Amino acid sequence: MVTIPPQPWPTGLAEDVEPLVKRVLAPNPSPYTFTGTQTYVVGMADGPDCAVIDPGPDEADHIAAILAAVGSRKILAIMCTHTHRDHSPAAAPLAAQTGAPIVGCAPLMLQVAGPRSDEAFDPTYAPDRVLVDGEGMRGTGWTLTAVATPGHTSNHLCFALEESGALFTGDHVMGWSTSVVIPPDGDMGDYMASLEKLMAREDRVYHSAHGAAIDKPRQLVRGMIGHRRQRENQILRLLGEQARPVSGFIPEMYKGLDPRLIGAAEMSVTAHLIDLEKRGLARLSEGVWQTGVQG
Ligand SMILES: [Zn+2]
Repeated sequence: MVTIPPQPWPTGLAEDVEPLVKRVLAPNPSPYTFTGTQTYVVGMADGPDCAVIDPGPDEADHIAAILAAVGSRKILAIMCTHTHRDHSPAAAPLAAQTGAPIVGCAPLMLQVAGPRSDEAFDPTYAPDRVLVDGEGMRGTGWTLTAVATPGHTSNHLCFALEESGALFTGDHVMGWSTSVVIPPDGDMGDYMASLEKLMAREDRVYHSAHGAAIDKPRQLVRGMIGHRRQRENQILRLLGEQARPVSGFIPEMYKGLDPRLIGAAEMSVTAHLIDLEKRGLARLSEGVWQTGVQG
């Protein structure tokens, strides 16, 4: 279970996370954002420049708090991990106020907008430059390199701070909960591959957009991979017992689930089923899922 930290939360304050990193919590707590979105300011405290990672929601108080954390430094880049509405909408107003370029994930144009994706994506996001895997930004004493990590969204990037071994993980790996993977844009196969990608790295610490810093990153990622594999095995076992619609998995897989979370649970099971279908292990016929031909 998730333990919610006691109030008051440090909303609006510039917290020193490590020598090159300050963190500013946005005033947007919710069941999807935990205590709120965490914006990071990266650069030497007394240096001439910095970068801002995940500027967050377009709220005047939050933008003022980011600017206070930046101080007299020039912002060389406003960098977004992905374009969910709790991450990128402040990019445009911050760019307008400071003249800083928006550099980072690709904009996302959804061909098929589901009810939740329609709500969750920021259509205003317009980057000046899109970074692909391995590309980065450099300032005085800091270097941030993009690590492509699709899955939570197709455009998700993490950013590695080369000088300190920290990785800014956005919503890919978070300090409070596992990431939600919502089709059609969210892709479980990509998400698992992006977890394996982090396992192959040797980052010292993760700073995620929601929740506390993660000091034992690979241990957490290993646990997340195990949790998803367990879910997948459970789905395959249930499919083997009986063909069923998505709703038929929920009572067995999520015992005692809060009824308000049934929709989210069905999304997650659907993400797994689509992945199994791609691998030939499941197929859908008239709303009913059954085992695939041969794995
Ligand atoms: Zn997100």
